[in-house]
Amino acid sequence: MKIWLHDGLVDEADAKISVLDHGLLYGDGVFEGIRVYGGRIFELEAHIKRLYESAKVIRLDIPMGKKELIEAVEETTRANSVIDGYIRLVVTRGVGTLGLNPFICENGRIFIIADNIQLYPEELYDKGMKVISATTVRNHPLTVPPQVKSLNYLNNILAKIEALDNDVPEAIMYNHEGYVAEATGDNVFIVRNGVIYTPPVQAGALGGITRNLVIELAKQENLRVVEKNLTRCDLYVCDELFLTGTAAEVIGIVGIDGRVIGEGKPGPITKLLRQRFFEYAHGKG
Ligand code: PMP
Repeated sequence: MKIWLHDGLVDEADAKISVLDHGLLYGDGVFEGIRVYGGRIFELEAHIKRLYESAKVIRLDIPMGKKELIEAVEETTRANSVIDGYIRLVVTRGVGTLGLNPFICENGRIFIIADNIQLYPEELYDKGMKVISATTVRNHPLTVPPQVKSLNYLNNILAKIEALDNDVPEAIMYNHEGYVAEATGDNVFIVRNGVIYTPPVQAGALGGITRNLVIELAKQENLRVVEKNLTRCDLYVCDELFLTGTAAEVIGIVGIDGRVIGEGKPGPITKLLRQRFFEYAHGKG
């Protein structure tokens, strides 16, 4: 595999970063996960925009212009002949000292990995997935803002551990006020009486690119989408529950904390949006 490291492609064995890089020492950096469908890099501009916005919030200068970075992502994808796969684009703070000061780090460091993707089994999409409510509270917006896609994922990892301890793949995270924020790596939607609801990003969610797209696709289907705060109860009594994300796409949730959602299988709106998303991603929408 060829990896983009800073300013060009190198062999995987040579793709090494320093132990003094603050991305490693402190999780100081930002990243994106991007899909490739049929050789097309999906929503690349939206991902690049979010990357630069995340970097701006944490005052990280990306040592490359947007256009150049897009070309680097494309070149890495081509070099690895990725047709249907997943790209990880990472910008670390770069090499510094053992202190926290980010401003004495050398340049930010960029690396790009383009590979195949490990998908949830197809069966999980047909039958739907179970989740739990995490006790780990989503980062307060005044701590590490959840709108920043930073390298610091420990908050999410702690919730993921709770899910795995309970033999389910995902957990719903709530914010400090008890409202639904997001799943550990996906956004949350519910359907009730034919209306789709999703928490506003200010509730502690990443502004998901799949989320935005699914909202658009739902509107094209003349479905009403409302952004509002949701409680744990709202999830328990909804007709349909589904998650969206680059890796998971659109996946139905059929159980949470021992409660069955709807009829215990992915509902009609979830299935419709999954289908519409598939068509859009594969250029048939
Ligand atoms: N929330 C979190 C915490 C995420 O890491 C992700 C991306 N994996 C998402 C939501 C979904 O965002 P996107 O649709 O842009 O992948």
